[in-house]
Amino acid sequence: MKKNIKISYVSLGCAKNQVDFEYLIGELSADGFISETNPAKCDAVIINTCGFIEPAVKEAVDNILQMDNIISKKAKLIVTGCMVERYKQEILKELPEIDFITGVGKLSEAADYLREIFHIEKSSSEIKRAVTNSPYYAYVKISEGCNNLCTFCVIPSIRGKLKSRTMEDIEKEVGKLVGDGVQEIVIISQDTTQYGLDIYGEEKLLPLMKNLTSKFENTLFRMLYLNPEGVREDVISFVAETKNVVKYFEVPVQHASDKILTKMGRASDRNTIDNVFNNIRRLCPDAFIRTTFIIGFPGETDDDFMEVYNFISTMKPDFAGFFPYYKEEGSIAYNFNDDVDKKIVSKRIAELQKLQKKNTSSRLKEYKKKEFICFVDKVNDDFEFILEGRAIFQAPDTDGKLYVTDGIADKGSGPYKCIVNKVAYPDIYVTFLENN
Ligand code: SF4
Repeated sequence: MKKNIKISYVSLGCAKNQVDFEYLIGELSADGFISETNPAKCDAVIINTCGFIEPAVKEAVDNILQMDNIISKKAKLIVTGCMVERYKQEILKELPEIDFITGVGKLSEAADYLREIFHIEKSSSEIKRAVTNSPYYAYVKISEGCNNLCTFCVIPSIRGKLKSRTMEDIEKEVGKLVGDGVQEIVIISQDTTQYGLDIYGEEKLLPLMKNLTSKFENTLFRMLYLNPEGVREDVISFVAETKNVVKYFEVPVQHASDKILTKMGRASDRNTIDNVFNNIRRLCPDAFIRTTFIIGFPGETDDDFMEVYNFISTMKPDFAGFFPYYKEEGSIAYNFNDDVDKKIVSKRIAELQKLQKKNTSSRLKEYKKKEFICFVDKVNDDFEFILEGRAIFQAPDTDGKLYVTDGIADKGSGPYKCIVNKVAYPDIYVTFLENN
């Protein structure tokens, strides 16, 4: 048996992809494979890809080609994940430098392949997921796939229909993570509010969350990917009233014009979306709301764009992302006419970003006078006297960074009480408070 087989891991795409990869890394670590950060020194590299939109596919291909130049001639190049699921035949034909591929839900086939070529036995010990971000938080995927038919989206064709995990299975995983010291559990899926519909015959997000938050009362829980139609008043009240749920709603609305929402095949119309925003502000006034928009969907006119603009002006989401529409092969909208000129799309996005910058900055400035908690991730790469982390109202890797310019992190990752001393959109600089 060859010992000390070194593997380099490259994770691309979203948190859901990251979680899949963490199970694979855990499995390989249990088998004795060693993680190697320098690909030039590794025996194999695994690139877990995203294939949701055109730029993600390009990023994956660039990574594969670059990696092939870095690794030794003998090292194995393995590619897994969404892009493989979407373009399996093309990859096999166009990228002969790859030694092995496997798609979504089958990542452990990469472990089988590595064990076989390096003559390593499968470990009999229990596989432990290897959390790859800062150890104080971890994502927990409560379901896979999606039953919706948004016309711009290829995710259901890549990841399939909704497949929820049982409540017991989720609770077991949360228990393990909490036992390992995780302080914040970030609940993810494709459409979190639909949790349970497939296996329990009805949505079970609230029972799941009530159980988890009462069993793990010293752990924080944050829910992401809440489609507006599922953000009912009982969900909002639960977030408002439960002390260990982060007051943060990620509600992707994608557009504000009913004409475009219908063409997008979205389940929520403008009235539903307005009600959700108003209800959150009424029932959970301290909450941060993040949303996303796709701009330049086929047929989007100046009037449709103005509906988004006016929505942002009046509803004032705390954080918002604006993404250009990409015509994705295999999506329902692929054959739609009336494409919007790319220059117009860029101009519209720039206007929305300018407007949103004011909303976010003004909300963040409130925290110059209001205390909040934050966590520390690491020392800044360029300035060793500055710490980096995130505020409780910032989701990981999404809502800007937090820099500690005044304070000593003598409790590891935290949490620490602090206030904002400077807003540099989208980031904040903070001072720790003395009563930490
Ligand atoms: S809700 Fe719509 S956009 Fe989100 S994964 Fe499902 S089909 Fe895609």
